[in-house]
Amino acid sequence: MVSCPSCGKEIDHLINWSKQWRKYVVRLGEGGDLEFEEVEDDVDVIRDEFLCPECEEVVAVSERHAKELLMGKTKGGVNVGKLMWGPNA
Ligand SMILES: [Zn+2]
Repeated sequence: MVSCPSCGKEIDHLINWSKQWRKYVVRLGEGGDLEFEEVEDDVDVIRDEFLCPECEEVVAVSERHAKELLMGKTKGGVNVGKLMWGPNA
């Protein structure tokens, strides 16, 4: 179990908010409505935020940082934007 670098509570998961551009092929359907066909694998992540489920602070802003946090590999502190934390800070 790892501790949240913000509130210090033990957490076993994070909440991810991900802002993405998704690509669709758009056609005019028979009924006059637009039909959206999603182009798979063409997703551009604009912003990724990983929040602590306890205090809802953003504790990581990339999948790599989120992974390191959940693995407890944050010894020595990791600078994520303006956030700085240590193993049990
Ligand atoms: Zn927290």
